Amino acid sequence: MNKLEWNDGMSVGVDVLDSDHKQLISIIAQLSDLIEQGKTSEAIEKIFNQLEEYVTVHFTREEEMMRRASFEAYEQHVAQHRNFSEKVPMLKQKLLDADSIEVSLEVNLFLYQWLINHILSEDMSYVQSLLDSGQADEVPDRDSFLHLVYQFVSQQLTLGKRILLTALLPVFAIIGLSWVVFSTNYQSYQTTRELLSLSHLVQRISSVIHTLQSERGLTVGFSGSEYTQFRNSLTAQRRETDRMMSALQNTLSGLSAEMDEGKAGLGLIYYNKWSLDMQQLRKEIDARGMNIELIFSAYTRHIYSLLNISEKMALMEVEGSISRTVSALVALLNLKESVGQERAWGTFGIERGGLSVEELQQLTNLMGQQKAYQRVYTLSASVQQNQQMQAFLLGAAQLQVQQDETAFFAAIQSNLLGDMDSSAWFEHFSEKMDRLEQLVNILVVDIQQSTQNEAEQLQKQLYIATAILLLVILLVLLFSWVLNRSIILPVQKVTHAMSVLAGGRRDICLTDHFGDDEVGAMVDAYEQCRRALLQSDVAASVRFRKKDIDLLNRTREKDLYQELASVDPLTGSLNRRKFEEYAISELSRVRRYSSRLSLMMLDIDHFKIVNDTYGHATGDVVLKQFYECCKNCVRETDIVARIGGEEFVILLPETGESDAIELAQRVRLAVKQLLIPVEQGEIRITVSIGVTEWNKDAFRGIEEMMQYADKALYEAKEGGRNQVVSFSHFQ
Ligand code: GH3
Ligand code: MG
Ligand code: MG
Repeated sequence: MNKLEWNDGMSVGVDVLDSDHKQLISIIAQLSDLIEQGKTSEAIEKIFNQLEEYVTVHFTREEEMMRRASFEAYEQHVAQHRNFSEKVPMLKQKLLDADSIEVSLEVNLFLYQWLINHILSEDMSYVQSLLDSGQADEVPDRDSFLHLVYQFVSQQLTLGKRILLTALLPVFAIIGLSWVVFSTNYQSYQTTRELLSLSHLVQRISSVIHTLQSERGLTVGFSGSEYTQFRNSLTAQRRETDRMMSALQNTLSGLSAEMDEGKAGLGLIYYNKWSLDMQQLRKEIDARGMNIELIFSAYTRHIYSLLNISEKMALMEVEGSISRTVSALVALLNLKESVGQERAWGTFGIERGGLSVEELQQLTNLMGQQKAYQRVYTLSASVQQNQQMQAFLLGAAQLQVQQDETAFFAAIQSNLLGDMDSSAWFEHFSEKMDRLEQLVNILVVDIQQSTQNEAEQLQKQLYIATAILLLVILLVLLFSWVLNRSIILPVQKVTHAMSVLAGGRRDICLTDHFGDDEVGAMVDAYEQCRRALLQSDVAASVRFRKKDIDLLNRTREKDLYQELASVDPLTGSLNRRKFEEYAISELSRVRRYSSRLSLMMLDIDHFKIVNDTYGHATGDVVLKQFYECCKNCVRETDIVARIGGEEFVILLPETGESDAIELAQRVRLAVKQLLIPVEQGEIRITVSIGVTEWNKDAFRGIEEMMQYADKALYEAKEGGRNQVVSFSHFQ
């Protein structure tokens, strides 16, 4: 017989329990050695006692640990222990009583099977509880942070959820990053759109400023000429100014929806206030109640308020080239205003025929200012814009103004300013102003175009970014779905198939194609395992069949021999040998349980005469009839046997002396009344019966008990036959 040996796969992870199991395996191995070597029952009994003792030690230890670990199936496990503990003495008895090696090996095999089941199935179930309660042997790094995270995640989240989480984390990160990018881009987009609106507004404002500047120049000239010059031009210019203002108002109302409330509102408030102020101012001018300084500053204040709105553009955070163009525009607007002021003062000076020192100083300041604004423009403007400026500076209008300026200063020197033509001065400067206004418009259009482009660009970027984001999210979700299908589904399939396999079925065949990856390898490993098990099942079943057949053949032979050896061929009753076998085992039961047992010894009276009268064959018939008669009188459990020629014995388990005597009387009467039909007629016989009850103090064994029954029988014969005598009656 192959002996079971310990291997590390049987470890339950707790050293002390593993060493118990090793010890148990070794004891059972010793037992099988003894059985194979055919050792005496004392040696076997000794080993069995060791086994019994060690099982108790092991069970006690195990139960204590399980109790401390609060193992949920504690009661059930203890019941299994108790069940086995109760079986051990029975197994020992079976082994001691065994009359063949097969029975011994059967006991041994049972022990092995129990042990394997105990270690691999019963004990493995509480290993987790022992681990959790810290009773198992230390595994390194069990308490590390990563391990705790792993433990938490694996307990709280299924594999599917873990995959989804892994896939979604980058998605959240992408969404977060995109949010930052989007919001920045969106702000730029908003600013750009605002700038675009503002640039439309600035265009209108610039036109208004242009007309205001002309109106201011004409008014100053008108006032300087003692209200004689420029009357008609001024009237026309006022109408033009009003027209431009109302155009600005329309633009403001149109933009207020699109633009920041504040900025549009600012313009509208300004406009309403301006309308009132302007009417008032014009009235006062016409009433000749204002001096030149007041008139000039009133107009200039209005112009600066309007310029202020356009300067707001310069404060907006927009793309570099646009912001530079805006700066250039602001510089240009200021330059133009400065030229406008120069025009006004010049016209006034010519009309009045001279300027005060302060007025002259202001005029030169204005010219210096113009240089500075021109410089700012040159620094901020693009190459093309600078070229346009150059063209202007070299243009006829500028050259004419420069000539007028030179003439103006020469006239001042020679005190001949009054001889100059104020209309020509005003006209030449107005031409320069118109050219500058053209430049302003070019810049505004430049700003509008680049702003438009920028807004479109930003919008495009937003669309592309949104599309990429959606695509990434879609891909991530798709990938997580693929992962889910390619990992979890096979794992679930293999798990199910494995548990079916463990349950003994070998019919789940995983041949679907699972890919050449780790999952595929797992499925392949399952298939290998299944086929190996299937193979060994087939081999085992073939072996079993062979064994079954051998065993069957042997049992049949044995049964035949046993029957031959235990049955009396004439009557079919048990023979003496078998009777003694039964009697011994019955006696051991009586000894164990102190139950009662009686025995009848029967002898047919004068049987020799039957033989002599009717012949031996008839004698045989009588013997058979006698046996049947006895058998019919006793219980199923009573044992009737022929132990000599016409001598029989009946063993009566669970029967005391008085009941045995009563039964013997019944048998005696039945035999007496028995009519045995034979060829020559009918035969009647009688029987003498000796009865005795087992007495553990009086008898040493079955032999002695039979001797005493025999004595009683002898007494019955002596007493005249056809009677029952009990051993205690003649004691
Ligand atoms: P008692 O009342 O004293 O017992 O008288 P008995 O004649 O029965 O006693 P005894 O022992 O003297 O005779 C037994 C006879 O049983 C002798 C033998 O011929 C006969 N006998 C023994 N075995 C067989 C058998 O198998 N068949 C037959 N027909 N007779 C047998
Ligand atoms: Mg006889
Ligand atoms: Mg006899």
